[in-house]
Amino acid sequence: MSELYSLSGKLNIEFKTIQKMISIYCRHHHHMKNKTNQLCYECSDFVSYVNEKLDRCPYGEIKPTCNKCPIHCYKIEKRLQAKKVMLFSGPRIIFSHPFLALRHLLSERNEIPMSIPKEKSNRHIRIIRLKNINK
Ligand code: SF4
Ligand SMILES: [Zn+2]
Repeated sequence: MSELYSLSGKLNIEFKTIQKMISIYCRHHHHMKNKTNQLCYECSDFVSYVNEKLDRCPYGEIKPTCNKCPIHCYKIEKRLQAKKVMLFSGPRIIFSHPFLALRHLLSERNEIPMSIPKEKSNRHIRIIRLKNINK
């Protein structure tokens, strides 16, 4: 897995939830075969992909759920991969991580922002913060 960007607030909670769902999916579909606790290459790569998308999401912490997003920045094959993971792991995460599952369900009610905010992405804020530290 390539290095992950640090995400703040709701973006981080969303990332942790998706990470758990990918892990559940991988355990049942891939890495059970080699009996390790590590994600397979495909799932590990997907975790990095999701992390980068959340980091760059222009809505930042007010993002809608990705499935309702008017931009939908995922490549089509990654969108399908996300759908497969959600369908399988969505019902299962309720038992293993009920708090994250509840947060995820509530986030489905988030309004879609009327416009795309300026300079609200995690990436933008992260870079500005780094610049200020290095001044
Ligand atoms: S799909 Fe939309 S909400 Fe999800 S990360 Fe991409 S831009 Fe943000
Ligand atoms: Zn896997």
